[in-house]
Amino acid sequence: MIMTCDDLKIEASSRRCIKHLSHAQNFHQFLLLRRAKEILVLTEQHHIQWSAMTRMLNNNQTDNDRSTTSFPQHRRRAFKYKLFINELPTLTQLIKRRPDLYKKPTCVLCNQEDESQEHIWTYPAHHHTWINILSKAAHLLHDAIKCNSDTPPHIDIIMKLVHESRTFITKGLVFTIFWSSLTTYV
Ligand SMILES: [Zn+2]
Repeated sequence: MIMTCDDLKIEASSRRCIKHLSHAQNFHQFLLLRRAKEILVLTEQHHIQWSAMTRMLNNNQTDNDRSTTSFPQHRRRAFKYKLFINELPTLTQLIKRRPDLYKKPTCVLCNQEDESQEHIWTYPAHHHTWINILSKAAHLLHDAIKCNSDTPPHIDIIMKLVHESRTFITKGLVFTIFWSSLTTYV
């Protein structure tokens, strides 16, 4: 028996082929969700490196996590998903879920703008902390590259790369440019 699809003979293993087709179908259905609207646009423009993203979303911190799902592991994963589909429990989200409890979405820190995921990063008082986090991440990344590369780039290059990918980092997304630059070093 030979399996075909649109008159094309499928030469790969049928089991693997069906597995890939079903993954593709699930992924496509996810991208069509209203909550994934922004992700769909970024995906169509090839801004997200999905294979690295999948690895990151499924990353296990310990060997034990591979065989069973612990509560901390589950919480980490839920956080990563909420982060990239913009559903962290900020006031703008909470007000949608429980309008009886939350009366206004205004940020309690500045009392000016609505508290959204984006506002947490763009709020001027958080600016300094945010820059520090990115610089620290750049140093960690640089150390990791040095361990895996014979010709590591200068720290300034990594610093620029990390800081320029910040809008993606805030959402836990892997920016294609960030990823392809890294692959030139490692
Ligand atoms: Zn604020």
